[in-house]
Amino acid sequence: MSEVPLEARPLRRLYRYGLAYSGRLLVGLLFGIIGGGSVFGLLKNLGDVTDSAFDFATGSLRSLLVTSVGLIVFFTLRGIGHYFSIYFINWVGFKVVEDLRRECFGKLQKLQLSFYSRHSSGELISRVTNDTTQVQHAVSGVVADIAQQPFALIAALGYMLYTDWVLAVLSLVVFPICIAPVVIFGRKVRKYSKQSQEHLSDLSSVLQENVSGVRVVKAFGMEVYEEEKFNRENRKVFGRLIKIVLARNVNQPLMEIVSALGIVSVLVYVYLHRMTYGEFISFAAALALMYHPAKMLGKVHMEIQKAMGSAERIFMLLDEPVEVTEPTNGVGLDEPVRELRFENVSFSYGDGPVLNQIDLRIESGEKVALVGSSGSGKSTLASLVPRFYDPTHGRVTLNGIDLKAFSFQGLRTQIALVTQDTFLFNDSIANNIAYGQADVDPDRIEDAARRANAHEFILEMSEGYQTLVGERGGRLSGGQRQRLAIARAIYRDAPILILDEATSALDNESERLVQSAINEMMKGRTSIVIAHRLSTIQHADRILVLKEGRIVEQGTHDALLAQSGVYRYLYDLQFANTTRM
Ligand code: ADP
Ligand code: MG
Repeated sequence: MSEVPLEARPLRRLYRYGLAYSGRLLVGLLFGIIGGGSVFGLLKNLGDVTDSAFDFATGSLRSLLVTSVGLIVFFTLRGIGHYFSIYFINWVGFKVVEDLRRECFGKLQKLQLSFYSRHSSGELISRVTNDTTQVQHAVSGVVADIAQQPFALIAALGYMLYTDWVLAVLSLVVFPICIAPVVIFGRKVRKYSKQSQEHLSDLSSVLQENVSGVRVVKAFGMEVYEEEKFNRENRKVFGRLIKIVLARNVNQPLMEIVSALGIVSVLVYVYLHRMTYGEFISFAAALALMYHPAKMLGKVHMEIQKAMGSAERIFMLLDEPVEVTEPTNGVGLDEPVRELRFENVSFSYGDGPVLNQIDLRIESGEKVALVGSSGSGKSTLASLVPRFYDPTHGRVTLNGIDLKAFSFQGLRTQIALVTQDTFLFNDSIANNIAYGQADVDPDRIEDAARRANAHEFILEMSEGYQTLVGERGGRLSGGQRQRLAIARAIYRDAPILILDEATSALDNESERLVQSAINEMMKGRTSIVIAHRLSTIQHADRILVLKEGRIVEQGTHDALLAQSGVYRYLYDLQFANTTRM
């Protein structure tokens, strides 16, 4: 492993994607050989045509015609070979990009939430779009060149050796001189491209954050600060791009100058050795025809370098370990929920422990409330149930079966979740309520909306249930969004209900209305309710008080009040607040 140079590994892996389409690659290669190889016949006929045309004394019209037809045939072959080679190889290139994008997106669906808290959305979007495009250049551009240019180069060289080997060898000396700068500047281009891609993704992050956080930016008067932050990244991108231009474009003039030197030398040689017109013309053409393949092959190196940074980033994403994995033969739950159980569960996000030895048994139909100060681990505890995270120690079971044994689908259809930050898709209200359900039943949607106290405001909107909610539900108020999220949970009709501060964005009046909907929805269901306002959970069957990731108290509202512990303290705090208001 260790003797493989670092850059070779993503490259090899990348071309393995291309090899999946080896049939088309082969056809592309064959056409490349035809297109490239035809250069030899083309040059030979060019020389002969020229000689026949200029040899006024002995040349026959017949040989002129024959060689002319030959010339046209070889040009045609070259065109056809070129065209189909490009077509087939680009086909593979675009297909590889499609595959990579599909894999990236599939991976993003599998990755656990902790991955998303480590990476910005701008960065992830850039990987799936920009980086894959970079890679596509490497696969189609580079492979197309490799399938064609070497043969054109060999054919041109072969022809030169065939016509005048001394002159050919002399010409060969020029070639390495052409290659030298390509190698040197190629390295620089690679370095700068990698940096520019990184800066570009930073720039996207700043932009993305700024746009989605526009309210906060304005409210805190941070426009100038944000602009400076953006401009700084923007300048960095410019700096890198311009360095790439400097390094990359120095190649062409250098090669052209060297080519000019070559042609001049050939002319001197022609003078000394008395070449025929045909020999000279075809030799010069061979030199000219060599230039393009050589240039392209020179570029191959750079294109690969440029794509390698992108490929590395893509493979890093694809190799990201999936911590929360779905079992291969995951089961579903084909019986009613009997109990949900936390068995000595501890959890950490990576730093300190967030949940400590939680033992908890929730029976079917039980309504359990979690209270505790902010950061005590309530949301974390609730997020272990749909397996957003897995416990670091201990296990969570449903009807005695470890949650890890369920298929995601099997587990998650048992659960309806409403959180504080509700996410709505830029789709109609009806589709947002029915999100994730196979059947979209307008009557049930309306019923769910009525029960979530959302029906009235939906009817007031321009197109009722078909109104588009705008990106992230931007056209709705926080309370409206939350009522839609509750309607979505009602529509889902799952046996386990998790409400994480589900009514926190509502005003008192709507909360009272929605609360009755929630109470009704909870009937007969196993529920975990996290509420900031203790008044909403007073009637829970059991209240658990969390403190620093431990359950420190539990019991009914009355029992806990009587204990004069943490719950009593939290209750008095809120009670004092409400009387003051
Ligand atoms: P609560 O819902 O009770 O307010 P949380 O469960 O959200 O508390 O958070 C418990 C602790 O875990 C807090 O200290 C919080 O900072 C930390 N935490 C929450 N989410 C993450 C995360 N994605 N990555 C790292 N730490 C987190
Ligand atoms: Mg929380």
